[in-house]
Amino acid sequence: HWVELGAFLHSIVERFEMVVKDKNIDFHRHIAKQPTYVKIDTDKMTQVLDNILSNAIKYSPSGGNVTITLLHQGNKARISIADEGLGIPAESQDKIFERFYRVDKARARNVGGTGLGLAIASEYVHAHEGDIWVHSEYNEGTTIYITLPYSTFKGGTM
Ligand code: ATP
Ligand code: MG
Repeated sequence: HWVELGAFLHSIVERFEMVVKDKNIDFHRHIAKQPTYVKIDTDKMTQVLDNILSNAIKYSPSGGNVTITLLHQGNKARISIADEGLGIPAESQDKIFERFYRVDKARARNVGGTGLGLAIASEYVHAHEGDIWVHSEYNEGTTIYITLPYSTFKGGTM
């Protein structure tokens, strides 16, 4: 159903701020003030954002910043979630959206996971006529981008 994406993102980030207090991560939000209505399955999109935010936390050192941005880019709403963590080597960047793929078994051993989160995220985002991709510099950080069709009012054409 129709959801205002800015408010939706704020509520998800607020939930994360409550639960990760022990790992000293600072969240920063740059959320468009103009209305951004999207037609989404809220359970599925919550699962998508939960995984991306938990990845940002899991693969970041204590003291890292995580920045969540929502802006309008042409006829798409663009969400980005940027961290200052381990980063992903160039040769792995295409593969992280594949089922069960995890970068480097040695480092993956320290943090739990099955390697399914981003495969599911990719499937759900594409089912919403959106797109998802990664930009990352090894040892610098990672940004995940998601675009979705949007309207400036509830029920509008996208
Ligand atoms: P799951 O999400 O199923 O619990 P997971 O987090 O390992 O397990 P994905 O979310 O699909 O799996 O991510 C796949 C892999 O991509 C991760 O194992 C990790 O190696 C890499 N990765 C994902 N996000 C980041 C990030 N923000 N920084 C560094 N590496 C990342
Ligand atoms: Mg994950």
